[in-house]
Order: sequence, then C-alpha cells, then structure tokens
Amino acid sequence: MFKALLLEESGKETKASVQRLNENQLTNGDVLVKVDYSSLNYKDAMAITGKGKIVRQWPMVPGIDFAGTVLASDNPAHSIGDEVILTGWGVGEKYWGGMAEKACVKGEWLVPLPGTMSAKRAMAIGTAGLTAMLAVTALEEAGIKPDQGPILVTGATGGVGSIAVRLLAKAGFDVHAETGRRQHCDWLRELGASEVIDRAEFDKEPAALESQRWAGAIDAVGGRTLARILSQTQMNGAVAACGLAGGVSLNTTVMPFILRGVKLLGIDSVYVSKEKRISAWQRLQTSLPLDFEEQSEVYTLDQSITAAHDLLNGQLKGRVLIQP
Ligand code: NDP
Repeated sequence: MFKALLLEESGKETKASVQRLNENQLTNGDVLVKVDYSSLNYKDAMAITGKGKIVRQWPMVPGIDFAGTVLASDNPAHSIGDEVILTGWGVGEKYWGGMAEKACVKGEWLVPLPGTMSAKRAMAIGTAGLTAMLAVTALEEAGIKPDQGPILVTGATGGVGSIAVRLLAKAGFDVHAETGRRQHCDWLRELGASEVIDRAEFDKEPAALESQRWAGAIDAVGGRTLARILSQTQMNGAVAACGLAGGVSLNTTVMPFILRGVKLLGIDSVYVSKEKRISAWQRLQTSLPLDFEEQSEVYTLDQSITAAHDLLNGQLKGRVLIQP
C-alpha cells in the first residue's frame, strides 16, 4: 500500500483526498519509483481544484513532475537505486502522477538526476524551471543577446517567471519583471530584475505597433499581455510564449511579424525531446543559487489541497514542493 492524493469526479466537481492505494493499481509503465518530492505547478493546482480541464482519466493522482529513486525496473535503461526526474508526458493528466509515495512510469520518460543534484533541488526547479530554461535557450537560439536591450518576464513572481528572472540575470541579460503583486518588488530585484512593471500596464488592448521596448520576452501570461508584448518588441526581437495564466486568446495583428521581424517562439515542456531535457537539466544544475531549494515551501499531501487553491488565488510565490 502507498499514500497518494487522489482526485475523483463527483458530478461536475473534483473531489481531492489523501488515500491509501494498492501498488497493483500502478499500471502505467515499466519503472516503479519511490517519490521523494513532487512540486505544485499551475496545472496541478487547476487539476486539484477542478478549475481547468486537466484530468483526462478518473480517478487521477495529480503531480506533473517528481524526483525519486527507482524501486523496481523492467526497463534495461534503469536499475534499482537510480535517481531520476520525471516531468510532463501527460503524467498527472492521463497517467497517475507524482503526488504519491510511489509512481510507475515508462522508463523512456525519465531523465537521470544530473551530477550531485538532490531530489529536493530537482523539484524546487521542477517543470517550472525546465520551462524557464527552455524559454531562455529558445531566445538565445533566436539570436537574442544581452547587449540588445531588456528582456521582459511576465507572471514574474510565479514558478516559471521567478526562475526565468534568475536564469536571464545569470546569463547577463537586463531583466524587467512584470507582476500583479507589487508587494514582491524587492524580492524580484533580489532575483535579478532591474525594473519591476505593474501588470495593469499590459492588461490593455494594444495598438498594432507600439514603441519598441523589448529585445525579447518570456511570457507566462498569454492573452492581452502577450498581444501587447508583441506590439512592443524591438526589430528582430523574439518572444517565448509558455503560459496562459491571464488567458488563452491571442488577438494580435501580423504587423510585429512583417514590419519588425518579431519571432513568436512556442515553448512546450511536456513532450520536449529527451536530448533537450538532459541538456536543460545540466545547465539548470549550475545556473541557480546553491541554496535555491531551501527557498521553497515544503507541504505534505494533505496540505497540497489548500496550497492548490492558494496558488490560483495568487497567495503563493516562487516554488512549492510536495513531500509525500
Ligand atoms: P504560477 O501560478 O506559479 O505563476 C503564474 C503567475 O502568473 C502568477 O504568479 C502571477 O504572477 C501571474 N498571473 C496569475 N494570474 C494572472 C492573471 N489573471 N493575469 C496576469 N497574470 C497572472 O504558475 P507557473 O509558473 O507554474 O506557470 C505559469 C504558466 O505557465 C501557467 O499558465 C502554466 O500553465 C504555464 N506552463 C507552461 C508550461 C509549458 O510547457 N509551456 C510548463 C509549465 C507551466 P504575478 O503575481 O507576478 O503577476
């Protein structure tokens, strides 16, 4: 038996409770992992609260990421005792996820914990950090360099945003952070932002082209915010779109693309190739402060339900770990 957070469909509501489940209910893969840490992501919060259509099979154990140790393996690439990370691949949506003492997944979905990284540090980084790193790399591959001007990060106090601010600052970029929570201004500056901009400035219908402000941007918000960023991006700049915290629509014009050569880069962490995951994790290992994991809150499975509501109500900042 093992302990897990279980989501059940009850009418149109989602019911979340901690339960003891039987190991033979874990049938998704060929590698059984003892979960040391999972993390609370925006998607997990939507699944647990039932606020978004995340869960594709009921009942569901949420948790789109986890880090832990292999307990049993029928996959030749993994042996008992290996330390591994799982992010994405529909885990926590279609397949039982990381908010449990144990998880069973396909071996090809796992990546090794890089170097001396602990499971706690891996999940303090988690899907949010992987996504932020993929976005930073995408901007660099699009030719954006630190001397070209400021990079805007939106949803900056969130998981993806706060790690993106740190990674960009570490890579030498001038980072401007957009937030709806001005009370965290000082914290954002500590992470490396040189300017903090109020969310209200972006939540307006943009003109087709506005004054050129950003060499690039990492956007976790979408909606009108993304449309406005595009209209303010400099000639030949690039915008990495990775989130929808402010909305899924994108009402823009072709003007930024055809008159300024702006590139819109889509970031997907769920099905990104194993090769890109491994190189992102290697860079993440050395790009964040040594005590990074100690700056995250750690919650139990029981506390994760309240934490999920708090995350969607904008009452958490940075990263939240779940220790089953
Ligand atoms: P968090 O909840 O930690 O952060 C989201 C942040 O967005 C909040 O902290 C807040 O920042 C801002 N925000 C929230 N609501 C609104 C709103 N209505 N309008 C404008 N800004 C808002 O979530 P994550 O960092 O885990 O995820 C961020 C986004 O990225 C989500 O949409 C998530 O689904 C997506 N994502 C995508 C991935 C991919 O593979 N493409 C992977 C991981 C996440 P502030 O208070 O500073 O304004």
